Amino acid sequence: MNESWKKRTKLVHGGIRRSQYKEVSEAIFLTQGFVYDSAEQAEARFQKAGEDEFIYARYGNPTMAMFEDRIAGYLGYEDAFACASGMAAVNAALTALLKAGDHVVASRALFGSCLYVLQDILGRFGVDITLVDGTDNAAWAAAIGPDTTLVFLESISNPTLEVIDLKHVCDLAHANDALVLVDDAMATPVFSYAKACGADISIISTTKHVDGQGRMLGGVICGPKDLIRGPIETYAKHTGGAMNPFTAWTHLKALETMELRVRAQAAAAQQIAEDLSGHTKLTAVRYPTHEDHPQHALARRQAPAGGTVLTFEVKGGKDACFRVLNALEVVTISNNFADAKSIATHPATTTHQRLPQDQKDILGISDGLVRFSVGLEDPDDLIADLKQALERA
Ligand SMILES: *Cc1c(COP(=O)(O)O)cnc(C)c1O
Repeated sequence: MNESWKKRTKLVHGGIRRSQYKEVSEAIFLTQGFVYDSAEQAEARFQKAGEDEFIYARYGNPTMAMFEDRIAGYLGYEDAFACASGMAAVNAALTALLKAGDHVVASRALFGSCLYVLQDILGRFGVDITLVDGTDNAAWAAAIGPDTTLVFLESISNPTLEVIDLKHVCDLAHANDALVLVDDAMATPVFSYAKACGADISIISTTKHVDGQGRMLGGVICGPKDLIRGPIETYAKHTGGAMNPFTAWTHLKALETMELRVRAQAAAAQQIAEDLSGHTKLTAVRYPTHEDHPQHALARRQAPAGGTVLTFEVKGGKDACFRVLNALEVVTISNNFADAKSIATHPATTTHQRLPQDQKDILGISDGLVRFSVGLEDPDDLIADLKQALERA
């Protein structure tokens, strides 16, 4: 890839490996294995496989390699390893880099499955975990110390859209020789500021904005070559979490349009937040870069847009909230986000149902809270749909 290309050009041309047929659109290599010219070549490849030498699809594949190069180049990282899902990526990165006795500091507003990997699995193997309020700079400073090995956080939290001062956390971690791993799903790859703030590794659930069309599960770990092609690849290739070639191929095609899609969705999210702000049936509207958000100044300093998700809180609790959700006509009720179709989620009874009430209270997951993922419909239709549904509250 030409490093001088602008980011959008990298999204279209990055990482291309053309076969002998010189196809225009990227080829999909649906193969488990690869043929060697000789026994000697097989022996040499198992000793050390070069850049474009493949052995087995669990280790890597030309379609997967195109995707890895394209997304790493786009985000400004040296390398990437593509995984079967966002959680396969989170699990591979954390498990590959941690050992018994290590100390991890993480934000408490973590995606539930990430919390499970950290606390229930890695905790069981002797990793010590401290959870902090991610919005509290002093809490990070108090928790991160010389014994800290790794810091893990969501740049923007799901579902409450808390914004973390990433530069502050990265500086603290690096002063203590700790690695910073950012779960960057909500920030979106288009507006990601993890690398610019000093994060060592970005983990992206490509299920979200990379696919962007509600089809594929995928994830990717982006970071420095020595970690990606060292402990992370070794762990991932032996434990079977690699992305399959068909997913990598759909992701390559989806990356071509990702900036256009995500910029349109983010602009619509900002417009909808502005339009709903102060609505008589709502107690709060939150979008990171909208002025009603308590951290909007920080969010704006870190990125030009706050992603494609906003939240609002319906007055009258669960019953009123369900009446609104059930009255939606354009927007669908589901639990994913970053689809071309707009999606409304009631976190308290679905994605965060199992969280104890005191935890919900701490994180702000109230009975009236709706997470709204803005799709690619005309924003005027979405605003009209939300407003007619809010009349039922
Ligand atoms: C969706 C998501 C994940 C998990 O990704 P999958 O692709 O569903 O495995 C992890 N972290 C965050 C913040 C997410 O939103």
